[in-house]
Amino acid sequence: METSKYYLGLDVGGTAMKAGIISAEGNLIHSLMQPTNKNAGPKAGLALMEKVIRLCIESAGLKLDSIKAIGAAVPGIIDLKNGVILDAVNLTDWKNVPVRTHLETIFSKPIAFLNDANAAALGEAWLGAGKGAESMVFLTLGTGIGGGLVHQGKIIEGRHGLAGEIGHTRIEMSRPRPCSCGNFGCLEAYAGATSVLKRAYEALAEDFNKISDLHEPAEKKTLSCKDVFDAARNGDPLADRLVEETSSALALGIINILHFFDPEKVVLGGGMIAAGDDFLKRIRWFVKDQAFKECAQGEDICFATLGNDAGILGAAIAARQMLLKN
Ligand SMILES: [Zn+2]
Repeated sequence: METSKYYLGLDVGGTAMKAGIISAEGNLIHSLMQPTNKNAGPKAGLALMEKVIRLCIESAGLKLDSIKAIGAAVPGIIDLKNGVILDAVNLTDWKNVPVRTHLETIFSKPIAFLNDANAAALGEAWLGAGKGAESMVFLTLGTGIGGGLVHQGKIIEGRHGLAGEIGHTRIEMSRPRPCSCGNFGCLEAYAGATSVLKRAYEALAEDFNKISDLHEPAEKKTLSCKDVFDAARNGDPLADRLVEETSSALALGIINILHFFDPEKVVLGGGMIAAGDDFLKRIRWFVKDQAFKECAQGEDICFATLGNDAGILGAAIAARQMLLKN
């Protein structure tokens, strides 16, 4: 009798370790998460991966035998071929961590290995905002900007697993801002949450008459991206300018994607989409204004719908795809 008919997805993050189980039909039947101590080091991290996987299977009322394969979505710079995290910027001391070999040894299951942005892209393409689209580009708008390309239900990895690194495509040449990657003028240097805050502090330093409402949280050092978007909605002119610049920078990045890849859908995910419809409207407006009209209908740019589940779902789908391939 065929007993193993489920796939498990693991999403390794800087703040939480998540696991979820999907059925062969692709339905999420159970998930859970545990907080991660990002300073605990890779040894504790690998132990937590094992714990979360076992807990997830157990609390779903299943046995390890029921799981056909496991997918692991991981952050940072990875060696795709060997299943190793080379350097996870948000996790202290995670250098050269052999995640796939470790999980293979413990669970004796086939392990799919992919980066977290690609996992979220795959999740959204199969079960979220990109469902039904032949081609989709996913952007995660978080501290930085990640991305993933999906064509006919599969991730386009590229030679080094770097395809879809949209955050580090260049949008500014004349007076480019420095980016976290060491280059200048990248999309992330304008539209990632960290950059939005940096630009906010710069603008506030020049707002000599202190007209903006953002001075108060800035002086308390509590200023967040959410404050900037909220203030823009309430008519704060400085915040409005910041949101307008962020939207136009993102639109430039999206126009580059549209003209290069001509996808059916562009899906925006990550913490910054909490900014809401006003943000989306502005991005759509810029894109519609400047892109070839054939590839910018407006509604083909939308927000992700799976939230925090996108990564585990994508990782589980990658596990299923890996078995179908072999
Ligand atoms: Zn960059």
